[in-house]
Amino acid sequence: MADSTISEQDFAAEATAFLEANAKPKQKEEAGWGKGSDKVALFAEKTREEEQAEVAEAKAWRQQFFDAGFGWITGPKAYGGRELSSSYERLWQSLEAKYDTPGGSTFGIGLGMVAPTILAHATDHAKDLYLRKLYRGDMVACQLFSEPVAGSDLAGLQTKAELDGDEWIVTGQKVWTSGAQYSDIGEIICRTDPSLPKHKGLTGFIVDMHAPGVEVRPLRQMTGGASFNEVFFNEVRVPDDHRLGDVNQGWTVALTTLMNERASIGGGGGGVSTMGASRLADLLKAMGKQDDAVLRQKLADIYINTQVARFTGLRAMEKIKAGQLPGPEMSIGKLALTNNMSRTSRFVEQVLGARILADTGEWGTYAWAEFILGVPGMRVAGGTDEVMKNIVGERVLGLPKEPQPEPRPAGA
Ligand SMILES: Cc1cc2nc3c(=O)[nH]c(=O)nc-3n(C[C@H](O)[C@H](O)[C@H](O)COP(=O)(O)OP(=O)(O)OC[C@H]3O[C@@H](n4cnc5c(N)ncnc54)[C@H](O)[C@@H]3O)c2cc1C
Repeated sequence: MADSTISEQDFAAEATAFLEANAKPKQKEEAGWGKGSDKVALFAEKTREEEQAEVAEAKAWRQQFFDAGFGWITGPKAYGGRELSSSYERLWQSLEAKYDTPGGSTFGIGLGMVAPTILAHATDHAKDLYLRKLYRGDMVACQLFSEPVAGSDLAGLQTKAELDGDEWIVTGQKVWTSGAQYSDIGEIICRTDPSLPKHKGLTGFIVDMHAPGVEVRPLRQMTGGASFNEVFFNEVRVPDDHRLGDVNQGWTVALTTLMNERASIGGGGGGVSTMGASRLADLLKAMGKQDDAVLRQKLADIYINTQVARFTGLRAMEKIKAGQLPGPEMSIGKLALTNNMSRTSRFVEQVLGARILADTGEWGTYAWAEFILGVPGMRVAGGTDEVMKNIVGERVLGLPKEPQPEPRPAGA
């Protein structure tokens, strides 16, 4: 493996040689109406068997490219990284994209959100235990934040952790936990001091998802698949050296994860994107509606807004590249993405009409139902549209704070 002074040219040659030896170049998919796959789903709609096979394949590929020096290009050498700048990471991604390799969605939450939090807040012992394994694909991590009564108001969460010697005992329920069914560890935020104001009595931990007392129950979504879960914790023991940050400082830990979450969703990661305008234009023509002035205008609107979102995303990425923290731009990015998905949904509904209600077998028509049914989930995941608007209003535009409802009088 080369050192951190390698030129981009030499790095690209090294990466290409590895890819040539270990993966097949992508076959150019036939483009145009009726050609290739018509799948446009936003969420994974797989059976458990298909999912397990995909996870195993993704892990094997990650292990292979980590061992060759491409698994954590920007990371510290102590954990198997190469300490190169993010331009090398982008170079690797652009080269890998030319080859047919297993997708990385299995690791989206673990590497996009949990691992950066571990790096920022975990004990040295926990960093040694987990960082290398996460980036090598030996382990998968999930995010255990939301609860039945704490989503947007995350600081209202109730799962408790109580200190017992040098261990914490965790009891409570989390919900909407994506990927918990195949995760080995989770980042959990618990209430450790109920007497403190709600943002102040929280602490973050790394919890072993295979520990006694952890129960994962799948939740089926309206699109058919079951990509997230309820997770129950019944007196689960967590060693104190698995704490993230200081006791009762969990809100700072949660914010680190949430900023990275918005960056990975709004920045175009996370396996989601709006459909290309050319695909929508093909749909319009195939349905014989290319002369409909209103639909043409809507298509132009989608194209313009997608381009604006792309440039906003690039601007935010440049900020990160310059060493600044992802900030409110990520909320704008997330909002722009879901607004464009909603525009696309409404356009497709108008173009296809009844064709999205029943599967006639016609290529590229009923397939859109999975996209349309997935959009509401995207508008909620990672912070709802309304919450993103509040953040943009208050922190970007400097508008007055959202009025808080009066606390309910005692006994009401
Ligand atoms: C696909 C998907 C994957 C997810 N994966 C995970 C995961 O892996 N881990 C995890 O911890 N969580 C996950 N979540 C949960 C997600 O973070 C929450 O659903 C989200 O934070 C919203 O919380 P809630 O569902 O409790 O809705 P609520 O917070 O109850 O909101 C209900 C409605 O009220 C509105 N609202 C709430 N507060 C305000 C306000 N102040 N101003 C204006 N409107 C408001 C909301 O916009 C929404 O329309 C996932 C969710 C989805 C859809």
